[in-house]
Amino acid sequence: MNLLEDKVALITGGSRGIGEAIVRKFAAEGARIAFTYHSSSAKADAIVAELAAEGTEIKAYQSNAASFTEAEALVKQVLADFEKIDVLVNNAGITRDNLMLRMSEENWDQVIETNLKSVFNLTKHIMRPMLKKRSGSIINMSSVVGEFGNAGQANYAASKAGIFGFTKSIAKEVGSRNIRCNAIAPGFIATEMTDELDEKVRDAFLASIPLKRWGKPEEVANACVFLASDLSQYISGQTISVCGALNC
Ligand code: NAP
Repeated sequence: MNLLEDKVALITGGSRGIGEAIVRKFAAEGARIAFTYHSSSAKADAIVAELAAEGTEIKAYQSNAASFTEAEALVKQVLADFEKIDVLVNNAGITRDNLMLRMSEENWDQVIETNLKSVFNLTKHIMRPMLKKRSGSIINMSSVVGEFGNAGQANYAASKAGIFGFTKSIAKEVGSRNIRCNAIAPGFIATEMTDELDEKVRDAFLASIPLKRWGKPEEVANACVFLASDLSQYISGQTISVCGALNC
């Protein structure tokens, strides 16, 4: 299939985990790909080398999604390199878990800036070129935790809940210009982010998932392919949960 043929996609945090799976799925669907990383330059270079050898037009950029000015420079550079951006996937994210009594201001600020302000940063700078082109699909990576909360993750849950309101607002604001904006809410997906969880916490989560297994990064990436493609042309302002029925 070539669901994304000739579409240019900018994906933040494409060096590992869910972001890497999105990069790989988008490449398999014919997209031209710009992706960012924060510090994993060797990993990013290896992904570029592998997919370029298979014929994908792909470039990696070191860019801190939490920085407004770096996001501005990134969008300019991607437009210079690829001429247009059809799809933006705001995927970059971090956790700094702690119970409220122990959560520092730094823990709070880092998570809000990386997970939520980044979505503003990239969307803000991509808006003008998308408006000019009168088309675009913006996909924001939220979490089921943004809907339900989670003890020890007040910062993370707040950042992910903020994404829901942001997504719906952008969908309303620019829908008339044929720009769509949707969110994805993964449940518990096996990546380095969830590797950090305590074994007891992991077991408790697993027991509560009706499909009785962790999700795979590729399963989240499949939902991104759908939202990026013309198959979802009349879908905007929505959240797709990829969580094994955890949220039922
Ligand atoms: P991950 O394996 O830890 O990968 C995080 C990615 O984000 C990496 O590519 C990392 O780059 C990048 N990144 C981190 N901080 C960044 C920054 N300031 N600027 C640019 N890139 C940055 O995480 P993941 O599990 O794949 O999660 C991806 C997204 O899905 C996140 O938004 C996360 O909140 C969300 N999510 C994950 C789960 C889950 O169960 N895994 C569930 C719900 C939602 P480097 O490699 O350079 O560090």
